[in-house]
Amino acid sequence: MSKNNNDIAIVGSGITGLSAGFRLKKCGYKVTVFEKNSMPGGAVRSVQQGDYLTEYGPNTILLKDRVIADLFDELGLTAKIKEANPEASKRYIVKNGKLTALPGSMMGAIKTPLFSLSGKLRVLIEPFITRSSDPDQTVADFVERRLGREVLDYAINPFVAGIFANSPDSLSLRHAFPVMHDMEEEYGSLIAGALLGAQKRRSEGRIERKLISFDEGLQCVPERLASELEIRHNSRVTSIERRGDGWYVECSGKDSGPYGQLIMNVPLYLMSEIRLPFQRQIEAINSEVYYPPLSVIHIAVKKDMVEHDLDGFGFLVPEKENRNILGALFSSTLFEGRVPLDQHLLTVFVGGGRQPELAELKSEQLFDLVLLELKELIGLKGVPTFKDHVFWPKSIPAYHVGYDDIEQQILEIEQSSKGLHIAGNFRYGISVPDCIRNGLNYAELIMTESQ
Ligand SMILES: Cc1cc2nc3c(=O)[nH]c(=O)nc-3n(C[C@H](O)[C@H](O)[C@H](O)COP(=O)(O)OP(=O)(O)OC[C@H]3O[C@@H](n4cnc5c(N)ncnc54)[C@H](O)[C@@H]3O)c2cc1C
Repeated sequence: MSKNNNDIAIVGSGITGLSAGFRLKKCGYKVTVFEKNSMPGGAVRSVQQGDYLTEYGPNTILLKDRVIADLFDELGLTAKIKEANPEASKRYIVKNGKLTALPGSMMGAIKTPLFSLSGKLRVLIEPFITRSSDPDQTVADFVERRLGREVLDYAINPFVAGIFANSPDSLSLRHAFPVMHDMEEEYGSLIAGALLGAQKRRSEGRIERKLISFDEGLQCVPERLASELEIRHNSRVTSIERRGDGWYVECSGKDSGPYGQLIMNVPLYLMSEIRLPFQRQIEAINSEVYYPPLSVIHIAVKKDMVEHDLDGFGFLVPEKENRNILGALFSSTLFEGRVPLDQHLLTVFVGGGRQPELAELKSEQLFDLVLLELKELIGLKGVPTFKDHVFWPKSIPAYHVGYDDIEQQILEIEQSSKGLHIAGNFRYGISVPDCIRNGLNYAELIMTESQ
């Protein structure tokens, strides 16, 4: 074993790299994290401005795995967890310009005006639809085949916009929603999979699902992980190189190393700004993975300026409705204490793969556009007490059909570069829990490799 095997460098302090670094440090490794920004966490960013607490990136974590709950416990964060208000189980979809609640029960599903009678009957034949022979189909093809066009248009299309800021026609089912894919493979049906798979999911370490954040927002998770690590902030890595039996990291013209193992936790489009031994391969991969632009607008208004009760998680807008926003979260209903008691806070999403040009508008244009939409959809009037705009030129990687090829190319780079691990939300899931779980898995892999 080489003497630097226990020295680990992590480039980028995204939630994936921090989770890996935390576990490695706990197991006796020496970990150095290089981060170009002045704070850790990448996309996870909570911002307190006066009385207003907003999230620039992720707003909620869906806690359903024991391994994530155990990590929060180990970090001493369990007491700070804030469960979403029970009202948040109600979710709205815009239909014919009006907010319509998604059904939450069988009776609700029978009565809902979201789907026509023929659309509802179409869902009932789902268990009798045969499996597809196509190993890599789009989310849209899968849903239309199994559940019908109405469910695609008024449930899955807005849902995909809410998670990936993209359209179901652009994403691979197997990569973007592996659970749905596996249900068809294993049970031949989504309905059967939902009913019969519960026991299996529990035995796989699933716990009761909870939608959560923390008292001071989600950023406390990366901050707490980072507090256990040596983080070199304001350190943009410009080059990585393997020399002899170690990795060297260059930052502001200075080399650091050798490191036995290196985790690159940098988005694909930023990796191509770093001088790499596998530059050509990364550029080829980067040119194929689309990250749509997205604008996030926060608006606070006095409660009596909104006609709707905002009694839910928020609303999503199907593409068919031809509106200028993708959806909105009722942030102050979700988690109390983020705005003064007499106000509502809304977080509105604009652009994505559906309308990339809208994401790029100037702040004032976006505020006008959003206020007009909110006026029509929830009866918002008057002047906001607070507004804020965050622009993500490249938000979330689209796992397109053919993503196997991307994963294979990344694997080949790793296989030909001893001690290198390429980590981030462009692999094995985009959600914060996916990234944490992947980070912990990289740590396990490194411990095995360096034994
Ligand atoms: C707007 C938005 C909303 C989201 N909502 C949710 C949600 O509600 N729930 C959920 O679970 N997930 C959500 N996600 C997804 C989730 O937040 C991300 O997928 C996840 O945080 C990405 O983590 P990562 O480990 O890939 O690293 P990233 O967050 O991509 O971090 C990479 C880090 O690398 C650093 N870096 C880049 N280049 C260099 C360099 N040359 N040298 C040093 N450092 C460098 C960056 O500064 C950054 O800190 C959302 C994402 C976005 C953008």
